[in-house]
Amino acid sequence: MIRCLLTLLVLCLATPVWAREQAPDFVLTGQIVGGDHQTYKPVSFDVPDGVTRLTVAFDYTGRDQKTVIDLGLMDPHRFRGWSGGNKRTFTLGVEDATMSYLPGPLPAGRWTLLLGVPNTRAETVASFEARIFLERTPGGPSLAAKPLKAGAGWYRGDLHAHTGHSDGSCQTQSGARAPCPVYRTAEAATARGLDFIAITDHNTTSHFAAMAQLQPAFDRLLLIPGREVTTFHGHANVFGPTAFIDFRLGDAAVPNVRTLQSLAEGAGGFLSINHPTALSGEACMGCGWTAPDTDYARVGAIEVANGGSERAQGGAEGPLLGVAFWEAQLNAGHRITAIGGSDNHDAGLSSDIASSIGRPTTVVHAPELSTTGLLAGLRAGRVFIDFDGSRDRLLDLSARTARSTATMGGALAARRGETVIFTATVAGADQARLEIVQDGEKRAPVFTRPGVFSIRMGDRPSWVRVNLRDTDGRLLAIGNPIYLSPAP
Ligand SMILES: [Zn+2]
Ligand SMILES: [Zn+2]
Repeated sequence: MIRCLLTLLVLCLATPVWAREQAPDFVLTGQIVGGDHQTYKPVSFDVPDGVTRLTVAFDYTGRDQKTVIDLGLMDPHRFRGWSGGNKRTFTLGVEDATMSYLPGPLPAGRWTLLLGVPNTRAETVASFEARIFLERTPGGPSLAAKPLKAGAGWYRGDLHAHTGHSDGSCQTQSGARAPCPVYRTAEAATARGLDFIAITDHNTTSHFAAMAQLQPAFDRLLLIPGREVTTFHGHANVFGPTAFIDFRLGDAAVPNVRTLQSLAEGAGGFLSINHPTALSGEACMGCGWTAPDTDYARVGAIEVANGGSERAQGGAEGPLLGVAFWEAQLNAGHRITAIGGSDNHDAGLSSDIASSIGRPTTVVHAPELSTTGLLAGLRAGRVFIDFDGSRDRLLDLSARTARSTATMGGALAARRGETVIFTATVAGADQARLEIVQDGEKRAPVFTRPGVFSIRMGDRPSWVRVNLRDTDGRLLAIGNPIYLSPAP
C-alpha cells in the first residue's frame, strides 16, 4: 500500500503542474493598447530560493482584432528563451525545458516575461494573463502529460534500449559510427509498429530531456523513462521516474541491494532484473545478477528474454535465457512478471536480427497507454514475450473453478482435488502448439478443446503458465503464470 501511495505521489509530481489545475504562484495581468504596437513590454516577477521548475501558461484576448503577443523569458542574469507566438505554455527545469527555452538552475531574484507586440490596432484594447507555477521538488522532465491512448488493451513494446546517452551507436551519413541520437530509436520503434519503448541508458539521466522533447511529436509511441542501473553485481532497469537513482552499489550511499530497491521504490520506480544469467567476471563485468540479499518480494519483473543474449547464443533458448532463474523465484513463492527487452545498442540494426528494436517485444495488457498504465499492467502480470516481435501475435491464459476466475498474472483459490479449467488464447501463430508449465515442470494435460485443459488442485500453492512453440519446436512466446492457492 505504501508502495502504491509513493507511486501515485511521484507520478503526480511528474505531471506538469499546469495540467493538475493547481493554483498558480503568480497571476500577471495587464492590457495591450494601440500604443504598444511593435514594442516590447517587460513584465517582472520575483522568484524565491529553491525553485526547481518554472512553468508559464499564457493567454490573451484581441486575436479577432489581429492583436499578437510574442513571449520570451529572462532570469536575473541571462536570456532563457524566446518562443514568439508559437507556444502558450512552457516549462523550464534544472535538466529540461520546452523547446525554445534553456534548462538549468532557476536563480532567485527578479525574472522578466518579455512580451513582444508585432501587431495591435490603434483602437484595440487586449487583456493578457500569465499564470506562473513554481515547483520545488527534485525530479527530471515530464514526458507525456496525458495517456496516448485511452482504454484497456494489449500494448506492444520494447523495455530495454540504449542510445548515444550511453553506449548506443549508429551509422553516420558517411558510414562511420557516432553516438546514436534518441530520435533514431523512436523512429525505429515506430517503424516496428510498437506502442511503447523504454529508453534505459546506463545510470545516466541525460536522455530524459531529449525524450521530453520527442514525446509530443511521437503521439502514438509512448516513451517510458528508464535507466539501466548498472552495478558491479548486476543490472536492473528502473522504469518510471526521471529523477536520479544512485547506482553505486557497494558504496556508502548504496551499501546493499535492498537500499537500491528502496531508492527505486521511493522514486516511484518499477524494478526489473536484467539478463540475470548473463556471464560475469572478466567475460562480462557485472552482467549476471550476483547481488546478494536481493529481496525478491520487491522485484517487479525479471527480464527472462534479452535480445543481446539471444543473438549471442544463436536462438531464444540457451544458457542465457533467464527462465530457470525466474521460475526458481516463482517456486520460492514470489510473484514476479517475466518480461523481455531487446537491449538494443544500434537503432539501425536490421529488424530480422535479435536485439534490433522490438526483438523481443513485450506485450502488456494495460488499462491505458501511459507510463502509469504500462507499469500497472506490468505489475498485474497479464504479459507475454513475443520473440519475433510480430504485430499481431497473442498468448493469453485464463482459469476458472466453479466459483471464481483469473487471468494471466492473477491468482485463483481452489480446493484440494478440485478441477481448475484453463483456457489459452492464441492468435497470429498458425499451427503453433502450446506448452504447459506447472511449477517449473513441463506438463502434458489432456486438451478437451483446442486451448482448453484442466489441472487438479493439489494441497500446496502452485502456478501454471503456457509457452508457444512452432512446429519445429522453436520457442515463439513465453506467458506469465496464473497462481493457484489452496482454498480453506
Ligand atoms: Zn545490461
Ligand atoms: Zn542494456
